[in-house]
Amino acid sequence: MYQKIKGTYDLLPKDTKKWQALEKTIHNVSKIYNYEEIRTPIFENTELFHRSVGLETDIVSKETYDFVDRGNRKITLRPEGTASVVRSYIENKLYADRLPISKLYYMGPMFRYERPQKGRYRQFAQFGAEAFGSESPLLDAEIISYAVSVIKAFKIKDIEVQLNSIGDQESKTMYKAALVTYLEKDIKTLCSDCQNRFETNPLRILDCKIDKDTELLKNAPKPVDYLNKKSKNHFDKLCAYLDAMKIKYAINKNLVRGLDYYTHTVFEVNANLETLGAQNTICGGGRYNHLVSSLGGPNIPGVGFAFGLERLMLALESVNFKGAPDYLHLFLIVLGEEQKEDGVKLLNRCRLGGLFSDIDFLDKSLKAQFKLADNSNARFIAIYGENEKANHKINVKDKDTGKEITIERDQLYNHIITELMNPSQACQTCKEENCDNCGE
Ligand code: ATP
Ligand code: MG
Repeated sequence: MYQKIKGTYDLLPKDTKKWQALEKTIHNVSKIYNYEEIRTPIFENTELFHRSVGLETDIVSKETYDFVDRGNRKITLRPEGTASVVRSYIENKLYADRLPISKLYYMGPMFRYERPQKGRYRQFAQFGAEAFGSESPLLDAEIISYAVSVIKAFKIKDIEVQLNSIGDQESKTMYKAALVTYLEKDIKTLCSDCQNRFETNPLRILDCKIDKDTELLKNAPKPVDYLNKKSKNHFDKLCAYLDAMKIKYAINKNLVRGLDYYTHTVFEVNANLETLGAQNTICGGGRYNHLVSSLGGPNIPGVGFAFGLERLMLALESVNFKGAPDYLHLFLIVLGEEQKEDGVKLLNRCRLGGLFSDIDFLDKSLKAQFKLADNSNARFIAIYGENEKANHKINVKDKDTGKEITIERDQLYNHIITELMNPSQACQTCKEENCDNCGE
């Protein structure tokens, strides 16, 4: 009997439903951020990955699936998506398109020859995004916000965004010199890979899976301490934009990422969920200002991220995701014929403002409409009846926090947007604001 290849898996119909749901949610969130889908081949010339990801990286030196085809071409099954997207961006001259910024996303299989374990496979799926055409930290902030929104769309709450800056080329060079001086006398105590990297690409030593936690590397100089003025400014602005969007992050001075091409921002999102086990990084990304030019394109900067979709799927087991991605922001319950005109007006306002919203069309009872709202997975349920009409009020319940309040009718849209932006501090157990009794 034939068996599947080590490190691969079959998706059976009971699972494909969940995957389709996951993909649909990703498409939806991507639309909100105005990113468009791109699909590139799953194999490319080997050289592309050598030039972009870098020869000294684990991905290229140990993990690629390489073969020579019948025409004697050296081919590699793609281990990641950025190189292919950049290749396609250059080859198809997308930079000459109608818009100065190209915002692209992709989903599909990647291949790495790794030791298979939970959350780590030889064929795995990634969802990634790349934005080209601006050096502004605003775009870094958007990319991070986009990644966080995807995670939030799945109602995964227990996440941590780790952020760092490795600076521009000049800062990286200054840092590299400091690192080399620091490591020089003790380099022999590190693994043989690190000793090679010391000669070829010392920055990569910080990311070594074997030596990462040694005192020598823990006490090594940190990239953020070597940022020049421009790089520091970029990083400070990014932090300010994230603060403005109320996106929580932790600065991790030791964070560098496995690929060669990063400049300035690097980040990872970890989810602290039991079902993930040790592989708890679900997303990683950063800025790459010289990748496009180093692959033969114009001097155009980029920034992006990639999610491991199997890990996202494992995370969803912890939050009891039932494959129902069709969430609504608002289900509006209107009671009584006289209230309907106001009702459609309110609904329309919310829809025009971009909220996924719906309403009942069958004059169902209050109870039945509540059920409809539940079945459509609505976060906010608003009730508008006779009393509310008389007082120009509306009652709004937040299903995520359990919070229920009566507000001015005309404030419905603003209220929902504000709540979406400000995650409530309500305790998950007693639903009280800022509770410190339940040990949450
Ligand atoms: P790790 O440190 O876990 O090996 P990485 O730095 O190699 O991750 P990236 O190249 O940044 O990972 O890929 C982005 C995401 O893809 C990772 O955060 C992870 O969720 C996922 N991923 C990477 N390798 C695998 C794999 N072999 N199997 C499943 N998912 C993977
Ligand atoms: Mg890896």
